[in-house]
Amino acid sequence: MTWTRFLLVASLSTVAWAQAPGSKEVEGVYPDAHALYADIHQNPELSAHEVQTAAKLAARLGGLGYEVTEHVGGTGIVAILKNGAGPTVMLRTELDALPVEEKTGLSYASKVHAKDDAGHDVPVMHACGHDLHMAAIMGTAAIMAHSKSTWHGTLMLIGQPAEETISGAKRMLGDGLLTRFPKPDVALALHVGNLLPAGTVGIAPGVMNTNADSLRITIYGKGGHGSAPHTAIDPIVIAARTILALQTIASREVKPGEMAVVTVGYIQAGTKNNIIPDQAELGLTVRTRKAEVRKQVLAAIARITKAEAEAAGAPREPSIDHYEGTDLVYNDPALAQRLKAVLEAALGKDHVVIEEPITGSEDFSYFVEQGIPGFYFSLGGADPEKFAEAKAAGTMLPSNHSSLFAPDVDPALHTGIAAEVAVLRELLK
Ligand SMILES: [Zn+2]
Ligand SMILES: [Zn+2]
Repeated sequence: MTWTRFLLVASLSTVAWAQAPGSKEVEGVYPDAHALYADIHQNPELSAHEVQTAAKLAARLGGLGYEVTEHVGGTGIVAILKNGAGPTVMLRTELDALPVEEKTGLSYASKVHAKDDAGHDVPVMHACGHDLHMAAIMGTAAIMAHSKSTWHGTLMLIGQPAEETISGAKRMLGDGLLTRFPKPDVALALHVGNLLPAGTVGIAPGVMNTNADSLRITIYGKGGHGSAPHTAIDPIVIAARTILALQTIASREVKPGEMAVVTVGYIQAGTKNNIIPDQAELGLTVRTRKAEVRKQVLAAIARITKAEAEAAGAPREPSIDHYEGTDLVYNDPALAQRLKAVLEAALGKDHVVIEEPITGSEDFSYFVEQGIPGFYFSLGGADPEKFAEAKAAGTMLPSNHSSLFAPDVDPALHTGIAAEVAVLRELLK
């Protein structure tokens, strides 16, 4: 049976994976990696509060012989395995989960609630798949520790807190990630998602995703009785007009073909049906690729927001708080080309696809901005049968951050470990 034909079958069957060439190693570490996955999935922790999660990872990595430093930039961990002279390669996993109520119906679904930073009780779920990334890195860590004759150099595994709030990478760098530890020659990460079937990986050479900006806009009106609008200035009506006007930035102002997304993800105002509130708050996420488009869109948001308030006779100019921002992730094209061939050899040619850049964002870009060539690739998470059905029906499977997000763990985790090991051995040969 040729390798290619074998893989076509293997991608649909976990049992077949056990026979895949070179996968004996993966099978050897898989039960432990899967056990960690199930544990972390059932015990998710919010951004910057990943205390137990980090401790579990640190203990396991320490047990494998890695030199582990905890509390790097909050709950972050750095685990180093030195194996003679050679390059330093960093592989990163995130640690955090999201304030989402899990509705997957899985036997190991999260039932966890926690207090968020504002003191509200919120449900918590690993709705972005970071649990799978941690399980993969543990499997990879074990294989690398047990096969030191196959590589040389320094392997640096990091558990990064607070990716979802775009703050963890910055905090780890601020806490001496590149001065207290060896500076990596290459930085690696992967992300699981439902855009590809489990068993495959996706590569985007060059631009991988988008710039992201988070804005909090407060529109000020004048409160009053709901029966007497003439005595008030209604911030809800101003907010409604503003939201609609903001939709014209991407459709009317940005040059067709350029990438721009302006999403109002929440609106908060008012307490009761017969009270006109004093103010309304909007939460926006803005995604762009080019620096000049980013500048144009942010300026248009400010202009429109202020003008709508002025048109309504608002007593004060709205406040616009730009509280988060991150640059796009750039995959070094030469590195991506080199590792594509490596992944094809490890997983089979049919299991490696070239992807379009995605509209997501991520703070892995902070590491790349330190002058470290980066390779950030996609790990297929979709059940291959459901993926094919959805494709045929023209529908989409639940995306990351959905309460229904549930990767097909067995093939995705096997592939994640196999891919990480292959890439690390290439870079540390
Ligand atoms: Zn996420
Ligand atoms: Zn994520």
